[in-house]
Amino acid sequence: MNKNYEVVIGLEVHVQLNTKSKIFCSCPTSFGDEPNTNTCPVCLGLPGALPVMNKEAVKKAVMFGKAVNAKINKISTFERKNYFYPDLPKGYQISQFVVPIVENGEIILDSGKKIGITRAHLEEDAGKNIHEGDVSKVDLNRAGTPLLEIVSEPDMRSSDEAIEYLKKLHAIVRYLGISDANMQEGSFRCDANVSVRPKGQKEFGTRVEIKNLNSFRFIKQAIEYEIERHIEAYEYDEYEDEVVQETRLFDTKSGETKSMRGKEESADYRYFPEPDLLPLEVPDEFFDIEIPELPDEKKKRYMEEFKLKEYDAGVLTAEPALAKFFEEMIELGVEPAAANRWLAIELLGRLNKAGISIENSPVPAKKLALIAIREKEAVISGAGGKKVLDLLMEEDIEVDEAIEKLGLKQVSDESAIEKMVDEVLSANEDKVAEYKAGKEKLFGFFVGQVMKASRGKANPQIVNKILKEKLK
Ligand SMILES: [Zn+2]
Repeated sequence: MNKNYEVVIGLEVHVQLNTKSKIFCSCPTSFGDEPNTNTCPVCLGLPGALPVMNKEAVKKAVMFGKAVNAKINKISTFERKNYFYPDLPKGYQISQFVVPIVENGEIILDSGKKIGITRAHLEEDAGKNIHEGDVSKVDLNRAGTPLLEIVSEPDMRSSDEAIEYLKKLHAIVRYLGISDANMQEGSFRCDANVSVRPKGQKEFGTRVEIKNLNSFRFIKQAIEYEIERHIEAYEYDEYEDEVVQETRLFDTKSGETKSMRGKEESADYRYFPEPDLLPLEVPDEFFDIEIPELPDEKKKRYMEEFKLKEYDAGVLTAEPALAKFFEEMIELGVEPAAANRWLAIELLGRLNKAGISIENSPVPAKKLALIAIREKEAVISGAGGKKVLDLLMEEDIEVDEAIEKLGLKQVSDESAIEKMVDEVLSANEDKVAEYKAGKEKLFGFFVGQVMKASRGKANPQIVNKILKEKLK
């Protein structure tokens, strides 16, 4: 990144709220159903059909507002945003323009920097256009799904800050349980507004909007491509011609952004009050809703209560399912450091390699906890535990069964180990003499010999203990 320029990024995120029914009708919001089966006169926009506000959507918006320390407006309003598109049968979208339900929130990055959230408002999603060869089809199952559009201040100064903000937002909505935030299915979508200005210049540069980014990696690539494009235009004195206010799309294959169309000014949408809905009044009891522990609080608590390093606590709290798995292991009596090692390093490593999510892990918390416990009890070694885990990834068997099957049970019987120690020492009398004369590093040699004699199964702590006694 060229040091003579400053990047300004603002993000708009559309989060699909996971209510059972749509925002203004009782059609189901389920994903992947037969096209156009989850529709009714309201979400098809038939004449005379009247919208009715979904209370659950309001509740979820309020929960979000609380989580980002925002102001929740007791009264907010709905407006019609008019535009024509085949997947929008009414010819307008019902959205909140004048007064949103949530205003003035913030997300705090790990550096301590605050990223402002200007507003979060409720609106309905459009349907979907499906292009097959030279035919285009319209599926209106998604039309009317509740969305929370979360608009940030232009506070981010690098693609890294943008990604950190998005990941925090993503984790928050998942912890709140207000959205499954599945980026592939489009229930967490991001538009990025990017501009670049020479360092020291007060006015913002020309802003372009990159639309419909659906993975963190693509968002980062798209923003970085755009930054480079703007800087190059400045450097070659072509800024006025090359960088115009517009909407661009990111081509995931070429890694480039391409012009889509000129950005409509908000006046072009001819917003006007929605005549079929009263202003939205948030019920008093919603202001007292308790929200669950959020990822950043949880991370802090893990560092304090479990003495975990910041990085480890961050990994474990990134996803609610992962934190839940970890807490289950702790409840089953596993020490935090061991739980972290078995979960974050051993199990996650294997799951990532196999492309399996923690929710679908073939090894549940109970089994992983038992591996850690058997290691602590010295029934198996750490290396043995990894072999058990490998087998459990493949087969649905119990931990103790796997230990038996793999022949990993350590010998902890002191008299059996003592016998092996005696044999090793009498076979190496010259080395024992050297050790006693002060060559203490030979201790490792004796341990190695005993472990070899036991074919790796002797409990190393007991071997150490007995050797120390015998060599005194
Ligand atoms: Zn409907």
